[in-house]
Amino acid sequence: MREVEYGKIVEAVKELVKRANYVLPKESVEAFKKSLKVEESPLGREVLGQLLENAKLAQELQMPYCQDTGVAVVFVELGQDVKVVGGSLCDAINEGVSKGYREGYLRASMVWDPLFDRKNTRDNTPAIIHYEVVEGDKLKITVAPKGAGSENTSKLAMLKPADGWEGVKEFVLRTVEEAGPNACPPLLVGVGIGGNFEYCAYLAKKSLLRPIGKRHEDPKIARVEEELLEEINRLGLGPMGFGGRVTALDVKVEMFPCHIASLPVAVNIQCHASRHASVEL
Ligand code: SF4
Repeated sequence: MREVEYGKIVEAVKELVKRANYVLPKESVEAFKKSLKVEESPLGREVLGQLLENAKLAQELQMPYCQDTGVAVVFVELGQDVKVVGGSLCDAINEGVSKGYREGYLRASMVWDPLFDRKNTRDNTPAIIHYEVVEGDKLKITVAPKGAGSENTSKLAMLKPADGWEGVKEFVLRTVEEAGPNACPPLLVGVGIGGNFEYCAYLAKKSLLRPIGKRHEDPKIARVEEELLEEINRLGLGPMGFGGRVTALDVKVEMFPCHIASLPVAVNIQCHASRHASVEL
């Protein structure tokens, strides 16, 4: 068993939280530049120019790319030959999130309970952590802060198998259209198809970690991604909903086997602030 110290995880998560909020992934910046070449609407072009300037300033000044620094969503790949020593993995991640949000002057957005007093937890904990046990002796942690504007427009449907691909497509397009400017386009659209109620939502969110422009390795799923991207961009919402050709920068689809009587579909809408940072310990 390889041992990984609690304190090392705390420090790593603290730095990831700051990096994810200050520095957009390279592919996002490249996608903005590429979109400038195809966007025809003057307002849309103006917005894309501002997004590029914003990304540059956030990185240079080490300031958050967006004021909504989100819920701290954390994906963990825990090698089955790794042992965390000195405390629990969950506590280490939450301590790292707490330190990162406080030291990095990142907005704390979490409230203790969703319905009653809604008091702010003041350090953006608790994180929402997804664990996956994998082979090997490595611990990979990805922090993906998610703002409410786009998350609130995400949707899930338990379709009937007879609805098929046309039903799935109609649901994805309707979700994007209804999200409109509230989700801060240009968007990334994550789609989880199959599994069950909770698993398709997880797939939709996880799919967004795949870099922009990277197609699914299964050619059938890759074709579906292309088709959805084309149709979403035909909706004409454009950057920040001002109209234009670039409504989405990319669409990611993940699928999983499902029950004979089910066709679950989840659409996780991601705004242009598609932030994530990873480390392997
Ligand atoms: S939807 Fe995204 S870009 Fe818009 S305010 Fe929220 S985090 Fe920021």
